Amino acid sequence: MNNIEQQRFFSRELLDWYGRNKRDLPWRRHRNPYYIWISEIMLQQTRVDTVIPYFNRFIEKFPTVESLADAPEDEVLKCWEGLGYYSRARNLQHAARQVKELYGGVMPSGKEEVFGLKGVGPYTAGAIRSIAFNIPAPAVDGNVMRVLSRYFLIEEDIMKGSTRSHMEELVMQLIPEGRASDFNQALMELGALVCTPKSPKCLTCPVMEHCAARLEGKEESLPIKTKAKPPRPEYRVTALVEGTGEYTGKVLIRKRPSTGLLASMWELPHISVAQDGGAAVVSLPDEAAMDKLAGDLKEEGIPIQPVGHFMNAEHTFSHIHWNMRVFKCEWRDAASNNLYAAESAAAYDVSSRVVGAGEVKSASDVQFRWISPEDMELYAFPNVFLRILNQYFSSK
Ligand code: SF4
Repeated sequence: MNNIEQQRFFSRELLDWYGRNKRDLPWRRHRNPYYIWISEIMLQQTRVDTVIPYFNRFIEKFPTVESLADAPEDEVLKCWEGLGYYSRARNLQHAARQVKELYGGVMPSGKEEVFGLKGVGPYTAGAIRSIAFNIPAPAVDGNVMRVLSRYFLIEEDIMKGSTRSHMEELVMQLIPEGRASDFNQALMELGALVCTPKSPKCLTCPVMEHCAARLEGKEESLPIKTKAKPPRPEYRVTALVEGTGEYTGKVLIRKRPSTGLLASMWELPHISVAQDGGAAVVSLPDEAAMDKLAGDLKEEGIPIQPVGHFMNAEHTFSHIHWNMRVFKCEWRDAASNNLYAAESAAAYDVSSRVVGAGEVKSASDVQFRWISPEDMELYAFPNVFLRILNQYFSSK
């Protein structure tokens, strides 16, 4: 069998298999480009089973591009809470505003236009254009590279841009005329269900007969992939500040700045400890860690007194690993060192508060709230803070 015949066999058998085996996924029930776009963004780094309920809730809350464009950012983040990689949600809303303003709310299909939407890279652009508009375009992600590496015995590092380009050209040759939508989805589906990273199910694979890696016994050793750097460890000491007076039973949260990691989400106040000293801080006695927490937060204008260790927590982002020690704290007036009056806490003026080295943050950049368990519905938290808050409130 020559190359052309091997390619034709692959495309034909794959499409035939997909027709019989494709999963019934909510975004596959329509050819709505908006739905396909949302699903593709959610599916980045996230499993299908996890995405389905998020997708359904998101579409119910924001059924159109306009409704997403016009929504308050907090509502969009709340709908994304728990899904991680929150810049995806912010970029999605930014792009919805682009679609509304530039294209009258109608998803574009042109390469430049789709690629110009915030948060849309080459893979997502190809997926939207091919799946929603049936335009022949490559949508090459990790699943697709794995299948192609194995079937065509491509022994090149898939982390290299040149390998991706090679695969994109190959996909363009493989897409049968008029079948771009089904073909790309079939390729992804085979990678997800059959040609899995570990223990591929070759015996049930529709293209096994001419799979080069299978024939050479190399299916387990492909694709070739240089290891990504492990996430950088960061050490954080966190304040679980308990309210008093009319705020009894409530906890102080703050909003993160509108740019950077976890932008605009809510969290417990915490301090980062420099990496060099990090290892030492992990083994710091509680007293020393509490002193450092009180001192650093006081400098930021948050007057608290830690009173005891509550729990440890960890969270891994794509490039950072947070190791956190959480301490229960009382709220104190920074000036008098007395317990801060509850009323004053509520009216705590952050607009003119000096933080860091003489920097003044505006009220819109830093915000604080006292929250009860019921209030958690109103704010979007990264997973690690959700876990801490849930554990705290359920221990009461
Ligand atoms: S035969 Fe095995 S290795 Fe080859 S494409 Fe199918 S599942 Fe993947």
